[in-house]
Amino acid sequence: MSQQLIDDFGRTVDYVRISVTDRCDFRCVYCMAEEMTFLPREEIMSIEEIELLSRAFTELGVKRIRLTGGEPLVRRGLMDHLTNIGNLPGLEELLITTNGSQLVRYSETLKQAGVTRLNVSLDSLRADRFKAMTRNGDLNKVLAGIDAAREQGFEHIKINAVVMKGSNQDEVLDLLEYARDKQLDIAYIEEMPLGNIDSHDRALSFCSSDEVMEAIEERYPLLPMAQKTAGPSRYFQMADSDIRVGFISPHTHNFCADCNRVRVTAEGRLLLCLGNEHSVDLLPVMRAEPGAIEPVKVAIVKAMSLKPERHYFDLSEEPQILRFMNATGG
Ligand code: SAM
Ligand code: SF4
Repeated sequence: MSQQLIDDFGRTVDYVRISVTDRCDFRCVYCMAEEMTFLPREEIMSIEEIELLSRAFTELGVKRIRLTGGEPLVRRGLMDHLTNIGNLPGLEELLITTNGSQLVRYSETLKQAGVTRLNVSLDSLRADRFKAMTRNGDLNKVLAGIDAAREQGFEHIKINAVVMKGSNQDEVLDLLEYARDKQLDIAYIEEMPLGNIDSHDRALSFCSSDEVMEAIEERYPLLPMAQKTAGPSRYFQMADSDIRVGFISPHTHNFCADCNRVRVTAEGRLLLCLGNEHSVDLLPVMRAEPGAIEPVKVAIVKAMSLKPERHYFDLSEEPQILRFMNATGG
Protein backbone atom coordinates (compact mmCIF):
# COMPACT_ATOMS: atom_id res chain seq x y z
CA MET A 1 0.00 0.00 0.00
CA SER A 2 1.26 3.49 -0.76
CA GLN A 3 2.28 5.73 2.11
CA GLN A 4 -0.18 8.07 3.79
CA LEU A 5 0.21 11.17 5.91
CA ILE A 6 -1.61 10.75 9.22
CA ASP A 7 -1.32 13.18 12.12
CA ASP A 8 -1.43 12.54 15.86
CA PHE A 9 -5.21 13.05 15.93
CA GLY A 10 -5.84 10.39 13.30
CA ARG A 11 -6.55 12.84 10.47
CA THR A 12 -5.30 11.86 7.02
CA VAL A 13 -3.70 14.70 5.10
CA ASP A 14 -4.38 14.28 1.39
CA TYR A 15 -4.70 17.89 0.31
CA VAL A 16 -1.89 20.45 0.02
CA ARG A 17 -2.00 24.10 -0.89
CA ILE A 18 1.24 25.44 -2.24
CA SER A 19 1.93 29.14 -2.51
CA VAL A 20 4.04 29.56 -5.63
CA THR A 21 4.82 33.24 -5.11
CA ASP A 22 4.17 35.97 -2.55
CA ARG A 23 3.87 38.54 -5.34
CA CYS A 24 0.63 39.77 -6.84
CA ASP A 25 -0.64 42.32 -9.33
CA PHE A 26 -3.42 43.30 -6.88
CA ARG A 27 -3.20 44.63 -3.32
CA CYS A 28 -6.55 43.55 -1.83
CA VAL A 29 -7.22 45.52 1.34
CA TYR A 30 -7.89 42.44 3.49
CA CYS A 31 -4.85 40.57 2.17
CA MET A 32 -1.98 43.00 1.80
CA ALA A 33 -0.68 46.31 3.05
CA GLU A 34 -0.49 49.05 0.43
CA GLU A 35 3.29 49.01 0.50
CA MET A 36 4.47 45.44 0.63
CA THR A 37 8.02 44.20 0.85
CA PHE A 38 8.23 40.98 -1.10
CA LEU A 39 10.72 38.23 -0.45
CA PRO A 40 14.04 38.23 -2.30
CA ARG A 41 13.90 35.82 -5.22
CA GLU A 42 16.49 33.42 -3.77
CA GLU A 43 14.37 32.97 -0.66
CA ILE A 44 11.38 31.57 -2.51
CA MET A 45 11.08 28.10 -3.97
CA SER A 46 12.28 27.67 -7.54
CA ILE A 47 9.91 26.05 -10.03
CA GLU A 48 12.04 22.86 -9.78
CA GLU A 49 11.63 22.90 -6.00
CA ILE A 50 7.87 23.35 -6.33
CA GLU A 51 7.80 20.33 -8.65
CA LEU A 52 9.94 18.24 -6.31
CA LEU A 53 7.76 19.11 -3.37
CA SER A 54 4.59 18.27 -5.30
CA ARG A 55 6.08 14.91 -6.22
CA ALA A 56 7.08 14.23 -2.61
CA PHE A 57 3.54 14.95 -1.45
CA THR A 58 1.89 12.77 -4.09
CA GLU A 59 4.25 9.91 -3.22
CA LEU A 60 2.99 10.35 0.35
CA GLY A 61 -0.62 9.88 -0.69
CA VAL A 62 -1.66 13.47 -1.40
CA LYS A 63 -4.43 13.45 -3.99
CA ARG A 64 -5.18 17.13 -4.41
CA ILE A 65 -2.79 20.02 -4.87
CA ARG A 66 -3.93 23.60 -5.02
CA LEU A 67 -1.54 26.20 -6.35
CA THR A 68 -2.10 29.62 -4.91
CA GLY A 69 -0.15 32.65 -3.78
CA GLY A 70 0.15 35.64 -4.08
CA GLU A 71 -1.09 35.39 -7.62
CA PRO A 72 -0.02 32.03 -9.10
CA LEU A 73 -0.52 33.17 -12.68
CA VAL A 74 2.12 35.90 -12.34
CA ARG A 75 4.78 33.42 -11.20
CA ARG A 76 7.37 33.36 -13.97
CA GLY A 77 8.01 29.91 -15.45
CA LEU A 78 5.12 28.20 -13.71
CA MET A 79 2.90 27.90 -16.76
CA ASP A 80 5.69 26.12 -18.68
CA HIS A 81 6.02 23.47 -15.95
CA LEU A 82 2.43 23.05 -14.89
CA THR A 83 1.89 19.91 -16.95
CA ASN A 84 4.66 18.16 -14.97
CA ILE A 85 2.69 18.74 -11.79
CA GLY A 86 -0.65 17.91 -13.42
CA ASN A 87 0.75 14.56 -14.62
CA LEU A 88 2.12 13.36 -11.27
CA PRO A 89 1.08 9.76 -10.58
CA GLY A 90 -1.51 9.57 -7.82
CA LEU A 91 -2.62 13.17 -8.19
CA GLU A 92 -6.37 13.24 -8.72
CA GLU A 93 -6.88 16.97 -8.89
CA LEU A 94 -4.76 19.99 -9.69
CA LEU A 95 -6.50 23.15 -8.57
CA ILE A 96 -5.70 26.84 -8.88
CA THR A 97 -6.85 29.86 -6.92
CA THR A 98 -6.44 33.04 -8.93
CA ASN A 99 -7.54 36.65 -8.94
CA GLY A 100 -8.52 36.16 -12.59
CA SER A 101 -6.47 39.03 -14.00
CA GLN A 102 -4.46 36.73 -16.30
CA LEU A 103 -7.17 34.22 -17.20
CA VAL A 104 -7.78 35.54 -20.71
CA ARG A 105 -4.15 34.70 -21.44
CA TYR A 106 -3.76 31.46 -19.49
CA SER A 107 -7.10 29.61 -19.30
CA GLU A 108 -6.18 27.31 -22.15
CA THR A 109 -2.74 26.52 -20.67
CA LEU A 110 -4.36 25.68 -17.34
CA LYS A 111 -6.86 23.35 -18.97
CA GLN A 112 -4.18 21.61 -21.02
CA ALA A 113 -1.98 21.12 -17.95
CA GLY A 114 -4.77 19.15 -16.31
CA VAL A 115 -6.24 21.75 -13.97
CA THR A 116 -9.75 20.55 -13.22
CA ARG A 117 -11.14 23.28 -11.03
CA LEU A 118 -10.54 26.98 -10.69
CA ASN A 119 -11.30 29.35 -7.85
CA VAL A 120 -11.52 32.95 -8.95
CA SER A 121 -11.68 35.74 -6.40
CA LEU A 122 -14.31 38.35 -7.11
CA ASP A 123 -15.52 40.64 -4.33
CA SER A 124 -17.45 43.24 -6.30
CA LEU A 125 -19.19 43.75 -9.62
CA ARG A 126 -18.79 47.51 -9.49
CA ALA A 127 -15.66 48.65 -11.28
CA ASP A 128 -14.89 51.54 -8.91
CA ARG A 129 -15.41 49.46 -5.81
CA PHE A 130 -13.45 46.56 -7.29
CA LYS A 131 -10.57 48.94 -7.92
CA ALA A 132 -10.79 50.24 -4.35
CA MET A 133 -10.88 46.77 -2.79
CA THR A 134 -8.01 45.43 -4.87
CA ARG A 135 -6.24 48.82 -4.88
CA ASN A 136 -5.51 48.49 -8.61
CA GLY A 137 -7.56 45.68 -10.17
CA ASP A 138 -9.49 46.01 -13.42
CA LEU A 139 -12.92 44.39 -13.03
CA ASN A 140 -13.52 44.04 -16.76
CA LYS A 141 -10.32 42.09 -17.22
CA VAL A 142 -11.36 39.66 -14.50
CA LEU A 143 -14.87 39.23 -15.89
CA ALA A 144 -13.40 38.59 -19.35
CA GLY A 145 -11.04 36.09 -17.72
CA ILE A 146 -13.92 34.24 -16.11
CA ASP A 147 -15.67 34.05 -19.48
CA ALA A 148 -12.47 32.74 -21.10
CA ALA A 149 -12.23 30.06 -18.41
CA ARG A 150 -15.87 29.08 -18.91
CA GLU A 151 -15.18 28.51 -22.58
CA GLN A 152 -12.45 26.00 -21.67
CA GLY A 153 -15.00 23.80 -19.91
CA PHE A 154 -13.39 23.29 -16.49
CA GLU A 155 -15.31 20.87 -14.25
CA HIS A 156 -16.03 23.64 -11.78
CA ILE A 157 -15.29 27.30 -11.53
CA LYS A 158 -15.99 28.86 -8.18
CA ILE A 159 -16.17 32.50 -7.25
CA ASN A 160 -14.64 33.39 -3.87
CA ALA A 161 -15.91 36.58 -2.28
CA VAL A 162 -14.66 38.00 1.00
CA VAL A 163 -17.60 39.90 2.48
CA MET A 164 -16.86 43.07 4.45
CA LYS A 165 -19.23 45.41 6.25
CA GLY A 166 -19.09 48.97 5.03
CA SER A 167 -17.68 47.74 1.75
CA ASN A 168 -19.26 45.01 -0.38
CA GLN A 169 -21.83 43.53 2.00
CA ASP A 170 -24.61 45.04 -0.12
CA GLU A 171 -23.45 42.98 -3.12
CA VAL A 172 -24.07 39.54 -1.64
CA LEU A 173 -27.15 39.02 -3.82
CA ASP A 174 -25.67 40.66 -6.93
CA LEU A 175 -22.70 38.30 -6.76
CA LEU A 176 -25.03 35.35 -6.30
CA GLU A 177 -27.07 36.37 -9.31
CA TYR A 178 -23.94 36.76 -11.38
CA ALA A 179 -22.88 33.24 -10.34
CA ARG A 180 -26.31 31.83 -11.17
CA ASP A 181 -26.32 33.54 -14.51
CA LYS A 182 -22.86 32.23 -15.45
CA GLN A 183 -23.39 28.79 -13.87
CA LEU A 184 -20.54 29.19 -11.40
CA ASP A 185 -20.31 28.02 -7.81
CA ILE A 186 -19.81 30.74 -5.24
CA ALA A 187 -18.33 30.82 -1.74
CA TYR A 188 -18.58 33.71 0.69
CA ILE A 189 -15.58 34.03 2.96
CA GLU A 190 -15.31 35.51 6.45
CA GLU A 191 -12.31 37.80 6.68
CA MET A 192 -9.46 36.28 8.64
CA PRO A 193 -7.06 38.26 10.80
CA LEU A 194 -3.90 37.36 8.93
CA GLY A 195 -1.23 40.05 8.96
CA ASN A 196 -1.37 43.56 10.43
CA ILE A 197 -3.22 45.91 8.08
CA ASP A 198 -4.02 49.58 8.53
CA SER A 199 -6.66 50.09 5.81
CA HIS A 200 -9.58 49.08 8.04
CA ASP A 201 -10.50 47.73 11.46
CA ARG A 202 -11.21 44.06 11.02
CA ALA A 203 -13.46 43.91 14.06
CA LEU A 204 -15.74 46.51 12.39
CA SER A 205 -15.67 45.09 8.86
CA PHE A 206 -16.22 41.51 9.98
CA CYS A 207 -19.35 40.02 8.44
CA SER A 208 -20.30 36.54 9.59
CA SER A 209 -21.42 33.80 7.27
CA ASP A 210 -24.71 33.66 9.19
CA GLU A 211 -25.43 37.28 8.23
CA VAL A 212 -24.62 36.58 4.57
CA MET A 213 -26.79 33.49 4.61
CA GLU A 214 -29.70 35.42 6.10
CA ALA A 215 -29.47 38.04 3.35
CA ILE A 216 -29.54 35.31 0.70
CA GLU A 217 -32.38 33.38 2.27
CA GLU A 218 -34.64 36.42 2.13
CA ARG A 219 -34.75 35.81 -1.60
CA TYR A 220 -33.50 32.27 -2.22
CA PRO A 221 -33.97 29.36 0.18
CA LEU A 222 -30.76 27.36 0.59
CA LEU A 223 -30.95 23.60 0.79
CA PRO A 224 -28.20 21.80 2.73
CA MET A 225 -26.14 19.39 0.64
CA ALA A 226 -26.03 15.79 1.72
CA GLN A 227 -22.35 15.52 0.91
CA LYS A 228 -20.09 17.13 3.51
CA THR A 229 -16.80 18.71 2.45
CA ALA A 230 -13.69 18.48 4.60
CA GLY A 231 -12.50 21.89 5.70
CA PRO A 232 -13.97 25.21 6.67
CA SER A 233 -16.68 25.38 4.01
CA ARG A 234 -20.31 24.36 4.09
CA TYR A 235 -22.20 24.08 0.83
CA PHE A 236 -25.85 24.51 -0.09
CA GLN A 237 -27.94 23.98 -3.18
CA MET A 238 -30.66 26.12 -4.69
CA ALA A 239 -34.08 24.89 -5.76
CA ASP A 240 -33.90 26.50 -9.20
CA SER A 241 -30.20 26.36 -10.11
CA ASP A 242 -27.41 23.77 -10.20
CA ILE A 243 -24.81 25.99 -8.62
CA ARG A 244 -23.43 25.39 -5.14
CA VAL A 245 -23.38 28.18 -2.58
CA GLY A 246 -20.70 27.91 0.07
CA PHE A 247 -19.74 29.66 3.28
CA ILE A 248 -16.19 29.64 4.51
CA SER A 249 -16.36 30.45 8.17
CA PRO A 250 -13.14 30.07 10.11
CA HIS A 251 -14.53 32.18 12.98
CA THR A 252 -18.01 30.93 13.49
CA HIS A 253 -17.66 27.28 12.57
CA ASN A 254 -14.89 25.17 13.88
CA PHE A 255 -13.78 22.82 11.16
CA CYS A 256 -10.57 21.52 12.65
CA ALA A 257 -11.84 18.05 13.51
CA ASP A 258 -11.93 16.99 9.88
CA CYS A 259 -9.04 19.09 8.61
CA ASN A 260 -7.33 17.17 5.79
CA ARG A 261 -4.87 19.79 4.59
CA VAL A 262 -1.54 21.47 5.07
CA ARG A 263 0.00 24.46 3.33
CA VAL A 264 3.40 25.36 2.02
CA THR A 265 4.43 29.01 1.86
CA ALA A 266 6.31 30.52 -1.06
CA GLU A 267 9.53 30.17 0.99
CA GLY A 268 8.95 26.44 1.35
CA ARG A 269 7.70 26.54 4.93
CA LEU A 270 5.27 23.73 5.65
CA LEU A 271 2.41 25.11 7.74
CA LEU A 272 0.51 22.48 9.62
CA CYS A 273 -2.40 24.79 10.48
CA LEU A 274 -3.60 28.10 9.03
CA GLY A 275 -4.24 29.62 12.44
CA ASN A 276 -1.09 28.51 14.21
CA GLU A 277 2.59 29.09 13.67
CA HIS A 278 3.52 25.38 13.81
CA SER A 279 5.75 24.90 10.80
CA VAL A 280 8.77 23.22 9.33
CA ASP A 281 11.19 24.85 6.93
CA LEU A 282 11.54 22.57 3.90
CA LEU A 283 13.74 24.88 1.81
CA PRO A 284 17.03 23.98 3.56
CA VAL A 285 16.10 20.31 3.21
CA MET A 286 15.54 20.74 -0.54
CA ARG A 287 18.70 22.81 -0.98
CA ALA A 288 21.00 20.53 1.01
CA GLU A 289 20.71 17.88 -1.68
CA PRO A 290 19.11 19.44 -4.76
CA GLY A 291 16.71 17.07 -6.52
CA ALA A 292 16.75 14.43 -3.76
CA ILE A 293 13.22 13.43 -2.86
CA GLU A 294 13.72 11.10 0.13
CA PRO A 295 14.93 13.75 2.62
CA VAL A 296 11.92 15.91 1.67
CA LYS A 297 9.52 13.03 2.26
CA VAL A 298 11.14 12.21 5.60
CA ALA A 299 10.82 15.85 6.72
CA ILE A 300 7.14 15.97 5.71
CA VAL A 301 6.30 12.73 7.52
CA LYS A 302 8.10 13.93 10.64
CA ALA A 303 6.24 17.27 10.54
CA MET A 304 2.85 15.57 10.85
CA SER A 305 3.32 15.24 14.61
CA LEU A 306 3.31 19.06 14.81
CA LYS A 307 -0.18 19.45 13.38
CA PRO A 308 -2.19 21.02 16.22
CA GLU A 309 -5.66 19.84 17.11
CA ARG A 310 -7.35 23.17 16.33
CA HIS A 311 -6.89 26.87 15.63
CA TYR A 312 -7.97 29.96 17.57
CA PHE A 313 -8.77 33.27 15.91
CA ASP A 314 -9.82 36.28 17.96
CA LEU A 315 -10.73 39.55 16.25
CA SER A 316 -10.65 41.56 19.45
CA GLU A 317 -6.96 40.92 19.92
CA GLU A 318 -3.92 41.85 17.91
CA PRO A 319 -3.35 39.29 15.15
CA GLN A 320 -1.49 36.35 16.56
CA ILE A 321 -0.52 35.43 13.06
CA LEU A 322 1.68 38.07 11.55
CA ARG A 323 1.99 36.37 8.19
CA PHE A 324 -0.04 37.92 5.41
CA MET A 325 -2.43 35.77 3.43
CA ASN A 326 -0.38 36.22 0.25
CA ALA A 327 2.61 34.61 1.93
CA THR A 328 0.48 31.89 3.47
CA GLY A 329 -1.31 30.65 0.41
CA GLY A 330 -5.03 31.11 0.94
N1 SAM B 1 -4.36 35.76 -5.64
C1 SAM B 1 -5.24 34.66 -5.64
C2 SAM B 1 -6.65 35.07 -5.33
O1 SAM B 1 -6.86 36.21 -4.90
O2 SAM B 1 -7.54 34.27 -5.52
C3 SAM B 1 -4.81 33.54 -4.72
C4 SAM B 1 -4.29 33.92 -3.38
S1 SAM B 1 -5.46 34.68 -2.29
C5 SAM B 1 -4.45 34.92 -0.85
C6 SAM B 1 -6.52 33.33 -1.91
C7 SAM B 1 -7.84 33.69 -1.27
O3 SAM B 1 -7.61 34.21 0.01
C8 SAM B 1 -8.64 34.73 -2.03
O4 SAM B 1 -9.92 34.22 -2.32
C9 SAM B 1 -8.73 35.88 -1.07
O5 SAM B 1 -9.94 36.54 -1.19
C10 SAM B 1 -8.57 35.19 0.25
N2 SAM B 1 -8.05 36.06 1.32
C11 SAM B 1 -6.96 36.84 1.32
N3 SAM B 1 -6.80 37.47 2.51
C12 SAM B 1 -7.82 37.06 3.30
C13 SAM B 1 -8.22 37.34 4.62
N4 SAM B 1 -7.54 38.16 5.40
N5 SAM B 1 -9.34 36.72 5.09
C14 SAM B 1 -10.05 35.87 4.31
N6 SAM B 1 -9.72 35.57 3.04
C15 SAM B 1 -8.63 36.16 2.53
FE1 SF4 C 1 -3.40 39.26 -4.50
FE2 SF4 C 1 -5.11 37.31 -4.01
FE3 SF4 C 1 -4.07 38.74 -1.99
FE4 SF4 C 1 -5.79 39.89 -3.60
S1 SF4 C 1 -6.22 38.14 -2.27
S2 SF4 C 1 -3.82 40.76 -2.94
S3 SF4 C 1 -5.36 38.95 -5.51
S4 SF4 C 1 -2.96 37.42 -3.33
